Amino acid sequence: MTVIRGATTIEKDCKEEISAAVKELLDEVFSANSLQKEDVSAFVFSLTSDVHSYHPAKAARECGYDFAPLFAAIEPEIDGGLKLCIRLMLLTELASKNAVKHIYQRGAKVLRKDISERLNIALDGPAGSGKSTVAKILAKDYNILYLDTGAMYRACALKALRSGINPKDVVAVEKMLLDLDLKVEYKEGKQHTILDGEDVSSAIRENAVSMAASNISAHHAVRVKMVEMQREIAKSMSCVLDGRDIGSAVLPDAKYKFFITADSKVRATRRFKELAERGETVDFEKLHAEIVARDKQDSEREFSPLVCAEDAIVIDTSELDIDGVVAAIKKQIQSKI
Ligand code: C5P
Repeated sequence: MTVIRGATTIEKDCKEEISAAVKELLDEVFSANSLQKEDVSAFVFSLTSDVHSYHPAKAARECGYDFAPLFAAIEPEIDGGLKLCIRLMLLTELASKNAVKHIYQRGAKVLRKDISERLNIALDGPAGSGKSTVAKILAKDYNILYLDTGAMYRACALKALRSGINPKDVVAVEKMLLDLDLKVEYKEGKQHTILDGEDVSSAIRENAVSMAASNISAHHAVRVKMVEMQREIAKSMSCVLDGRDIGSAVLPDAKYKFFITADSKVRATRRFKELAERGETVDFEKLHAEIVARDKQDSEREFSPLVCAEDAIVIDTSELDIDGVVAAIKKQIQSKI
Protein backbone atom coordinates (compact mmCIF):
# COMPACT_ATOMS: atom_id res chain seq x y z
CA MET A 1 0.00 0.00 0.00
CA THR A 2 1.32 3.46 -0.91
CA VAL A 3 -0.06 6.71 0.44
CA ILE A 4 -0.12 9.90 -1.59
CA ARG A 5 -0.68 12.94 0.58
CA GLY A 6 -2.14 16.27 -0.32
CA ALA A 7 -3.55 19.37 1.31
CA THR A 8 -5.15 22.62 0.36
CA THR A 9 -6.87 25.57 1.98
CA ILE A 10 -10.00 27.57 1.29
CA GLU A 11 -10.66 31.21 2.02
CA LYS A 12 -14.25 30.88 3.16
CA ASP A 13 -16.19 27.96 4.55
CA CYS A 14 -18.79 27.51 1.79
CA LYS A 15 -19.86 24.71 -0.54
CA GLU A 16 -18.49 26.33 -3.72
CA GLU A 17 -15.02 26.86 -2.24
CA ILE A 18 -14.83 23.35 -0.79
CA SER A 19 -15.92 21.77 -4.09
CA ALA A 20 -13.47 23.80 -6.14
CA ALA A 21 -10.56 23.13 -3.77
CA VAL A 22 -11.24 19.37 -3.61
CA LYS A 23 -11.42 19.13 -7.40
CA GLU A 24 -8.24 21.16 -7.89
CA LEU A 25 -6.39 18.99 -5.35
CA LEU A 26 -7.58 15.65 -6.75
CA ASP A 27 -6.92 16.72 -10.35
CA GLU A 28 -3.31 17.59 -9.53
CA VAL A 29 -2.74 14.45 -7.41
CA PHE A 30 -3.95 12.37 -10.36
CA SER A 31 -2.05 14.17 -13.09
CA ALA A 32 1.21 14.53 -11.13
CA ASN A 33 1.19 10.81 -10.29
CA SER A 34 -0.28 9.60 -13.63
CA LEU A 35 -2.95 7.72 -11.69
CA GLN A 36 -5.74 5.68 -13.29
CA LYS A 37 -9.07 4.90 -11.63
CA GLU A 38 -8.11 1.29 -10.96
CA ASP A 39 -4.94 2.36 -9.10
CA VAL A 40 -6.92 3.90 -6.25
CA SER A 41 -7.99 1.92 -3.15
CA ALA A 42 -9.53 4.74 -1.09
CA PHE A 43 -9.66 8.50 -0.54
CA VAL A 44 -9.38 9.65 3.06
CA PHE A 45 -9.95 13.35 3.77
CA SER A 46 -9.51 15.25 6.99
CA LEU A 47 -10.73 18.77 7.63
CA THR A 48 -9.86 21.40 10.20
CA SER A 49 -12.84 21.98 12.49
CA ASP A 50 -13.64 25.34 10.86
CA VAL A 51 -14.71 23.60 7.62
CA HIS A 52 -18.27 22.34 7.89
CA SER A 53 -20.29 23.68 4.98
CA TYR A 54 -19.84 20.72 2.69
CA HIS A 55 -18.61 17.15 2.74
CA PRO A 56 -15.41 16.72 0.68
CA ALA A 57 -16.41 13.15 -0.19
CA LYS A 58 -19.56 14.51 -1.80
CA ALA A 59 -17.53 17.17 -3.59
CA ALA A 60 -15.12 14.49 -4.87
CA ARG A 61 -17.95 12.26 -6.05
CA GLU A 62 -19.62 15.14 -7.88
CA CYS A 63 -16.51 15.82 -9.92
CA GLY A 64 -16.08 12.23 -11.01
CA TYR A 65 -13.94 10.72 -8.24
CA ASP A 66 -16.60 8.15 -7.36
CA PHE A 67 -14.76 4.93 -8.18
CA ALA A 68 -13.24 4.18 -4.75
CA PRO A 69 -14.45 4.47 -1.15
CA LEU A 70 -14.38 8.02 0.19
CA PHE A 71 -14.13 8.98 3.84
CA ALA A 72 -13.74 12.27 5.72
CA ALA A 73 -13.11 13.17 9.37
CA ILE A 74 -12.66 16.33 11.41
CA GLU A 75 -9.22 16.92 12.88
CA PRO A 76 -8.66 17.97 16.48
CA GLU A 77 -8.18 21.72 16.84
CA ILE A 78 -4.53 22.57 17.34
CA ASP A 79 -3.29 25.92 18.56
CA GLY A 80 -1.30 27.60 15.79
CA GLY A 81 -2.49 25.08 13.19
CA LEU A 82 -3.46 26.03 9.68
CA LYS A 83 -7.00 27.37 9.27
CA LEU A 84 -9.66 26.22 6.76
CA CYS A 85 -7.55 23.32 5.60
CA ILE A 86 -8.52 20.13 3.77
CA ARG A 87 -6.05 17.23 3.80
CA LEU A 88 -6.06 14.10 1.70
CA MET A 89 -4.56 10.63 2.02
CA LEU A 90 -4.99 8.70 -1.16
CA LEU A 91 -4.38 4.98 -0.73
CA THR A 92 -3.06 3.21 -3.79
CA GLU A 93 -1.54 -0.16 -4.59
CA LEU A 94 0.29 0.77 -7.73
CA ALA A 95 2.38 3.87 -7.42
CA SER A 96 5.94 3.24 -6.39
CA LYS A 97 6.69 4.77 -2.98
CA ASN A 98 9.77 6.63 -4.16
CA ALA A 99 8.17 8.17 -7.21
CA VAL A 100 5.10 9.45 -5.39
CA LYS A 101 4.41 13.17 -5.66
CA HIS A 102 2.63 14.64 -2.66
CA ILE A 103 0.63 17.74 -3.55
CA TYR A 104 0.34 20.81 -1.35
CA GLN A 105 -1.67 23.65 -2.79
CA ARG A 106 -2.62 27.21 -1.87
CA GLY A 107 -2.00 28.11 1.79
CA ALA A 108 -1.22 24.46 2.64
CA LYS A 109 2.15 24.80 0.89
CA VAL A 110 3.53 25.95 4.22
CA LEU A 111 2.80 22.51 5.71
CA ARG A 112 5.58 20.99 3.66
CA LYS A 113 8.39 23.47 3.62
CA ASP A 114 10.65 20.72 2.30
CA ILE A 115 8.73 20.26 -0.93
CA SER A 116 7.12 23.65 -1.26
CA GLU A 117 8.60 27.01 -2.08
CA ARG A 118 9.69 29.14 0.88
CA LEU A 119 7.02 31.62 1.84
CA ASN A 120 8.36 35.11 2.57
CA ILE A 121 5.79 37.83 3.02
CA ALA A 122 7.05 41.43 3.05
CA LEU A 123 5.00 44.01 4.95
CA ASP A 124 6.27 47.58 4.85
CA GLY A 125 4.78 50.81 6.05
CA PRO A 126 5.04 53.66 8.54
CA ALA A 127 4.85 53.39 12.34
CA GLY A 128 1.46 52.45 13.72
CA SER A 129 -0.01 51.34 10.39
CA GLY A 130 -0.94 47.97 11.91
CA LYS A 131 1.82 45.96 10.18
CA SER A 132 2.98 44.11 13.25
CA THR A 133 -0.53 43.07 14.33
CA VAL A 134 -1.26 41.85 10.81
CA ALA A 135 2.13 40.13 10.54
CA LYS A 136 1.55 38.22 13.79
CA ILE A 137 -1.86 36.98 12.63
CA LEU A 138 -0.52 35.94 9.21
CA ALA A 139 2.39 34.11 10.80
CA LYS A 140 0.06 32.25 13.18
CA ASP A 141 -2.46 31.35 10.47
CA TYR A 142 0.20 30.16 8.01
CA ASN A 143 2.18 28.52 10.79
CA ILE A 144 5.37 30.39 9.87
CA LEU A 145 7.55 32.81 11.88
CA TYR A 146 7.28 36.56 12.21
CA LEU A 147 10.42 38.67 11.90
CA ASP A 148 10.00 42.16 13.33
CA THR A 149 12.94 43.97 11.71
CA GLY A 150 12.16 47.20 13.59
CA ALA A 151 13.10 45.34 16.78
CA MET A 152 16.63 44.95 15.44
CA TYR A 153 17.06 48.70 14.80
CA ARG A 154 15.50 49.35 18.20
CA ALA A 155 18.06 47.08 19.82
CA CYS A 156 20.90 49.02 18.13
CA ALA A 157 19.35 52.24 19.41
CA LEU A 158 19.03 50.83 22.91
CA LYS A 159 22.68 49.89 22.92
CA ALA A 160 23.62 53.42 21.86
CA LEU A 161 21.38 55.02 24.49
CA ARG A 162 22.75 52.75 27.21
CA SER A 163 26.33 53.48 26.15
CA GLY A 164 25.77 57.23 26.10
CA ILE A 165 26.25 57.34 22.31
CA ASN A 166 24.31 59.87 20.26
CA PRO A 167 22.42 57.71 17.67
CA LYS A 168 23.08 60.45 15.08
CA ASP A 169 26.85 60.32 15.59
CA VAL A 170 27.96 58.19 12.66
CA VAL A 171 31.56 57.70 13.86
CA ALA A 172 30.53 56.59 17.36
CA VAL A 173 27.76 54.34 15.99
CA GLU A 174 30.10 52.65 13.51
CA LYS A 175 32.54 51.98 16.36
CA MET A 176 29.70 50.59 18.48
CA LEU A 177 28.70 48.23 15.66
CA LEU A 178 32.07 46.49 15.83
CA ASP A 179 31.18 44.77 19.07
CA LEU A 180 27.41 44.67 18.70
CA ASP A 181 26.18 41.29 19.89
CA LEU A 182 22.62 41.07 18.53
CA LYS A 183 20.63 37.88 18.05
CA VAL A 184 17.08 37.07 17.10
CA GLU A 185 15.77 33.91 18.74
CA TYR A 186 12.42 32.18 18.68
CA LYS A 187 10.75 30.55 21.67
CA GLU A 188 7.40 28.87 21.02
CA GLY A 189 7.18 30.82 17.77
CA LYS A 190 7.70 34.21 19.46
CA GLN A 191 10.61 36.48 18.56
CA HIS A 192 13.05 37.41 21.30
CA THR A 193 15.62 40.13 20.64
CA ILE A 194 18.83 39.41 22.51
CA LEU A 195 21.35 42.23 22.99
CA ASP A 196 24.70 41.39 24.59
CA GLY A 197 23.14 38.23 26.02
CA GLU A 198 20.13 40.05 27.53
CA ASP A 199 16.55 39.64 26.32
CA VAL A 200 15.60 43.25 25.50
CA SER A 201 12.27 42.45 23.78
CA SER A 202 10.39 44.58 26.28
CA ALA A 203 12.96 47.36 26.85
CA ILE A 204 13.13 48.23 23.13
CA ARG A 205 9.41 49.08 23.09
CA GLU A 206 9.79 52.19 25.23
CA ASN A 207 8.84 55.35 23.42
CA ALA A 208 12.26 56.93 23.96
CA VAL A 209 13.79 54.16 21.84
CA SER A 210 11.52 54.85 18.82
CA MET A 211 13.10 58.10 17.65
CA ALA A 212 16.59 56.84 18.50
CA ALA A 213 15.87 53.78 16.30
CA SER A 214 14.83 56.05 13.45
CA ASN A 215 18.05 58.08 13.90
CA ILE A 216 20.35 55.08 14.06
CA SER A 217 18.67 53.23 11.20
CA ALA A 218 19.66 56.03 8.81
CA HIS A 219 23.36 55.04 8.94
CA HIS A 220 24.57 52.98 6.02
CA ALA A 221 26.75 50.69 8.14
CA VAL A 222 23.83 49.89 10.46
CA ARG A 223 21.57 49.02 7.54
CA VAL A 224 24.17 46.82 5.88
CA LYS A 225 24.59 44.80 9.08
CA MET A 226 20.87 44.48 9.84
CA VAL A 227 19.87 43.69 6.25
CA GLU A 228 22.47 40.93 6.07
CA MET A 229 21.02 39.33 9.22
CA GLN A 230 17.46 39.71 7.93
CA ARG A 231 18.31 38.07 4.59
CA GLU A 232 19.97 35.15 6.36
CA ILE A 233 16.87 34.59 8.50
CA ALA A 234 14.50 34.90 5.53
CA LYS A 235 16.62 32.46 3.53
CA SER A 236 16.47 29.84 6.23
CA MET A 237 12.73 29.76 6.86
CA SER A 238 9.29 30.81 5.75
CA CYS A 239 8.39 34.04 7.52
CA VAL A 240 6.49 37.29 7.49
CA LEU A 241 8.86 40.26 7.73
CA ASP A 242 7.71 43.73 8.64
CA GLY A 243 9.71 46.93 8.33
CA ARG A 244 10.31 49.89 6.07
CA ASP A 245 12.47 48.47 3.27
CA ILE A 246 11.64 44.77 3.10
CA GLY A 247 10.00 44.81 -0.34
CA SER A 248 12.32 47.48 -1.73
CA ALA A 249 15.76 46.50 -0.37
CA VAL A 250 15.87 43.43 1.91
CA LEU A 251 13.89 41.03 -0.29
CA PRO A 252 13.28 42.82 -3.59
CA ASP A 253 12.39 39.47 -5.19
CA ALA A 254 9.75 38.55 -2.60
CA LYS A 255 6.62 37.28 -4.27
CA TYR A 256 4.26 38.72 -1.66
CA LYS A 257 4.73 42.40 -0.91
CA PHE A 258 2.36 44.72 0.86
CA PHE A 259 2.57 48.36 1.87
CA ILE A 260 0.37 48.99 4.89
CA THR A 261 -0.46 52.57 5.65
CA ALA A 262 -2.97 54.72 7.55
CA ASP A 263 -3.65 58.34 8.34
CA SER A 264 -1.08 59.73 10.85
CA LYS A 265 -3.76 60.63 13.46
CA VAL A 266 -5.12 57.08 13.32
CA ARG A 267 -1.60 55.69 13.70
CA ALA A 268 -0.84 58.01 16.63
CA THR A 269 -4.06 56.90 18.36
CA ARG A 270 -3.04 53.24 17.96
CA ARG A 271 0.45 53.88 19.39
CA PHE A 272 -1.07 55.92 22.23
CA LYS A 273 -3.30 52.98 23.21
CA GLU A 274 -0.44 50.51 22.85
CA LEU A 275 1.79 52.57 25.14
CA ALA A 276 -1.06 53.10 27.61
CA GLU A 277 -1.59 49.32 27.78
CA ARG A 278 2.07 49.00 28.66
CA GLY A 279 1.61 51.59 31.43
CA GLU A 280 3.47 54.37 29.58
CA THR A 281 1.66 57.73 29.53
CA VAL A 282 2.55 60.17 26.78
CA ASP A 283 1.07 63.38 25.49
CA PHE A 284 -1.03 62.60 22.40
CA GLU A 285 -0.09 65.72 20.42
CA LYS A 286 3.59 65.14 21.15
CA LEU A 287 3.28 61.48 20.11
CA HIS A 288 1.55 62.49 16.88
CA ALA A 289 4.28 65.03 16.11
CA GLU A 290 6.93 62.35 16.79
CA ILE A 291 5.26 59.90 14.44
CA VAL A 292 5.08 62.52 11.69
CA ALA A 293 8.75 63.41 12.28
CA ARG A 294 9.77 59.74 12.23
CA ASP A 295 7.85 59.16 8.95
CA LYS A 296 9.61 62.17 7.43
CA GLN A 297 13.02 61.05 8.61
CA ASP A 298 12.43 57.41 7.53
CA SER A 299 11.16 58.50 4.11
CA GLU A 300 13.81 61.08 3.39
CA ARG A 301 16.94 59.27 4.53
CA GLU A 302 19.56 58.49 1.93
CA PHE A 303 19.88 54.72 2.44
CA SER A 304 16.89 52.40 2.01
CA PRO A 305 14.21 54.98 2.79
CA LEU A 306 10.65 54.03 3.63
CA VAL A 307 9.15 53.61 0.17
CA CYS A 308 6.39 51.59 -1.35
CA ALA A 309 8.03 49.05 -3.68
CA GLU A 310 6.68 49.35 -7.21
CA ASP A 311 5.19 45.87 -7.12
CA ALA A 312 3.76 46.09 -3.58
CA ILE A 313 0.02 46.07 -2.98
CA VAL A 314 -1.03 49.13 -0.97
CA ILE A 315 -3.50 48.63 1.86
CA ASP A 316 -4.84 51.65 3.74
CA THR A 317 -5.94 50.49 7.18
CA SER A 318 -7.41 53.84 8.37
CA GLU A 319 -10.94 52.57 8.05
CA LEU A 320 -10.42 48.83 8.02
CA ASP A 321 -10.42 46.58 11.04
CA ILE A 322 -7.65 44.02 11.46
CA ASP A 323 -9.78 41.13 10.20
CA GLY A 324 -10.50 43.10 7.03
CA VAL A 325 -6.81 43.80 6.45
CA VAL A 326 -5.82 40.17 7.05
CA ALA A 327 -8.57 38.93 4.73
CA ALA A 328 -7.47 41.34 1.97
CA ILE A 329 -3.84 40.19 2.25
CA LYS A 330 -4.71 36.49 2.35
CA LYS A 331 -6.85 36.89 -0.75
CA GLN A 332 -3.92 38.37 -2.64
CA ILE A 333 -1.53 35.68 -1.40
CA GLN A 334 -3.96 32.91 -2.26
CA SER A 335 -4.31 34.24 -5.80
CA LYS A 336 -0.51 34.15 -6.33
CA ILE A 337 0.48 31.04 -4.40
O1 C5P B 1 8.68 49.38 13.20
P1 C5P B 1 9.29 50.10 14.36
O2 C5P B 1 8.54 51.32 14.77
O3 C5P B 1 9.59 49.19 15.50
O4 C5P B 1 10.74 50.58 13.81
C1 C5P B 1 11.56 51.47 14.54
C2 C5P B 1 12.42 52.27 13.56
O5 C5P B 1 13.36 51.38 12.94
C3 C5P B 1 11.67 52.91 12.40
O6 C5P B 1 11.22 54.22 12.68
C4 C5P B 1 12.69 52.94 11.27
O7 C5P B 1 13.45 54.10 11.31
C5 C5P B 1 13.58 51.77 11.58
N1 C5P B 1 13.36 50.64 10.69
C6 C5P B 1 14.00 50.67 9.46
N2 C5P B 1 13.89 49.61 8.62
C7 C5P B 1 13.17 48.54 8.97
C8 C5P B 1 12.47 48.50 10.19
C9 C5P B 1 12.57 49.60 11.03
O8 C5P B 1 14.66 51.63 9.12
N3 C5P B 1 13.12 47.50 8.13
